[in-house]
Amino acid sequence: MSSLLNIEYPEKLNLANIPTPLEKLRRLGRKLDLDLYIKRDDLTGSELSGNKIRKLEFILAHALSQGADTVLTCGGAQSNHARATAVAAVRAGLKSLLILRTPDPSNPPPATANILLDRLVGAEIVWITPEEYKSRGEIFEREAERLRKEGRNPFILPEGGSTALGAWGYIRAMEELAHDLALLEGGTDQPATVIAATGSGGTLAGIILGAKLLGLNIRPIGINVCDDREYFVNEIGRICAEFKERYAPQLVIDPQFDIEIIDGYVGRGYALSAPEELELIREIAQVEGVFLDPVYTGKAFNGFMKELEKYPKFFGQRVVFVHTGGIYGLFPKEDQFAELF
Ligand SMILES: *Cc1c(COP(=O)(O)O)cnc(C)c1O
Repeated sequence: MSSLLNIEYPEKLNLANIPTPLEKLRRLGRKLDLDLYIKRDDLTGSELSGNKIRKLEFILAHALSQGADTVLTCGGAQSNHARATAVAAVRAGLKSLLILRTPDPSNPPPATANILLDRLVGAEIVWITPEEYKSRGEIFEREAERLRKEGRNPFILPEGGSTALGAWGYIRAMEELAHDLALLEGGTDQPATVIAATGSGGTLAGIILGAKLLGLNIRPIGINVCDDREYFVNEIGRICAEFKERYAPQLVIDPQFDIEIIDGYVGRGYALSAPEELELIREIAQVEGVFLDPVYTGKAFNGFMKELEKYPKFFGQRVVFVHTGGIYGLFPKEDQFAELF
């Protein structure tokens, strides 16, 4: 498959609703004195909503080419990536096995929100503890071996689908963005800062690689929602290095310079919400009619707003926030939201 900019993409499935729109957040932008845009990757699908389907289009095409019949992946109990994988697997004619993290596997969480969707599409779920999750590589192997013994052909997707192959999904997204920026006043010459919530790193890796491959005047920034800056510079550095080796030896990437992470907004911890984060989600919904999610985009947007307060010029005039999805993450927070109403 080729594109307008003559990048040779690997083979992919067509599952996502793309290109997604680039929308201006007029009211909020006016208030903040910014040209503020949002890339609506929450609209890549309803059941497939979010950033993960962009990576999965490439990864599942590869899994099929390998003759796989079952995809294995992992994540938190309410993982958007696991849900997108389970749904996309069905659409690709595959089965799925999800290895999900929960404090007490003998008493797993109720089938609500993403878990409900996982169940509805018939995903097999294996519950493991956060401690076991640290050695998930072994659990992947154990489960893959069990499936092989049943005569099946498993294919393992690491956390978040954050691999060199998956990074193509956000190179594609940057190509879309370039087309949309070209239509704005000032075109692609005017610099833009692109902000994305960072949870396993693959999205930011793709944005960085895409900006480089396409020669865009874009400054990518990740705001981490778990772990810390050092972790993501390493992780994204690893994905970019693998990408370079496999697909683009000419690329020059300096992890310390090219991988910009704003740390400090993990808050209470992964998937745990502070009242101010939920309050911000409500404010954006009321001002713009856009729903951020509590696990990723709400935290990242909170970080963006806080940094902007401290350093009004830091992000430049034109800012694009990538809405990476996660709407189903709102539902397990019903009780916490109720306190705001
Ligand atoms: C997974 C996810 C992210 C983070 O993307 P990574 O590629 O894992 O860094 C951001 N937002 C949402 C809604 C997600 O589900």
